[in-house]
Formats: sequence, structure tokens, C-alpha cells
Amino acid sequence: MTEKIPQHRHCAGCNRAFVGEGRYCSPECGTTSTANLKKRKRQLILLYVVSVLVLIAALVAVNL
Ligand SMILES: [Zn+2]
Repeated sequence: MTEKIPQHRHCAGCNRAFVGEGRYCSPECGTTSTANLKKRKRQLILLYVVSVLVLIAALVAVNL
């Protein structure tokens, strides 16, 4: 016997199941998710810049 699950989606922000339209369970969740995504993107860029700087420092150290 299978329990009937009402038509639902999973929130793109918190992954909770919810009934309704859109990608997020609430507008707040969408805002938080977008902010987190931006923050993660910035962290990724920062990581990239740091690794390039470390690489340059390593090259300079080798050439000294
Ligand atoms: Zn959510």
C-alpha cells in the first residue's frame, strides 16, 4: 500500500519539500539562497586569486 503524496516540489534553497509555485519554498529562502550563491562565487574567485598569488610567489622564490 503506497501513501499518496500530494504534488510537491523541492526547494532549490533548503531542499525541503513544499507545495506551491516557483523554485523556493518562500521568498526569504530565495533571497538567502541567492546571497549564499553570490558569497560562494566570491569565495571561489578569492581562492583563485590566492592560488595564483601563491604560484607567482613560488616562481619568484625559485628564481631567486
Ligand atoms: Zn526553502
